[in-house]
Amino acid sequence: MKVDSITKLAQDYSDAIQEFNALMEELGGKAEALPKPKVRKPVLVPPSSMHPAPVDTGSRNSGIIARLDERLKPLAERFLAAVSQQGIPLVLTQGFRSMEEQRRIYEQGRTAPGHIVTYAPPGKSKHNYGLAFDVAPLNEKGQPYWPEDEDLWTRIGEIGESVGLRWGGRWPGVQRDRPHFELRAPAKAV
Ligand SMILES: [Zn+2]
Repeated sequence: MKVDSITKLAQDYSDAIQEFNALMEELGGKAEALPKPKVRKPVLVPPSSMHPAPVDTGSRNSGIIARLDERLKPLAERFLAAVSQQGIPLVLTQGFRSMEEQRRIYEQGRTAPGHIVTYAPPGKSKHNYGLAFDVAPLNEKGQPYWPEDEDLWTRIGEIGESVGLRWGGRWPGVQRDRPHFELRAPAKAV
């Protein structure tokens, strides 16, 4: 009984974190303006009602592709087609990033709370020029997740390389960035 409740609490907690992250992403720069959360007595909700709807990959992907560099667009399309042909459910999570967005995520884990999520200051990321995109496979609920499964990432990475992309999963040490793909050696683009 105790184990069941703990498992359920852990599930609810991880669902809530996912929802929170999705919301923060949606709010973007406005997130700082949010009021501090009040600590409330937790209310147990049946997990089904807490599950966000599966991500709409079609509109998500086309929205991100629309803001990519014209040279990267066809590669991203080919990559998505090849991934789906291999039966891997996947969504684009990031593409073009403004300098302001880059500044905000660069500060994360440095002058702002959180984990370090990028090593590129504003202007130093291919994302700032629409020359890169990030991906995540989808879990059984149709939501993006970042599995530890090395084989899955390698399959995804090799598909990207097969269409001519550079894959961040090849980068050494802390720079390794398995969800990241970019245009290969664009002539003086950055
Ligand atoms: Zn990236």
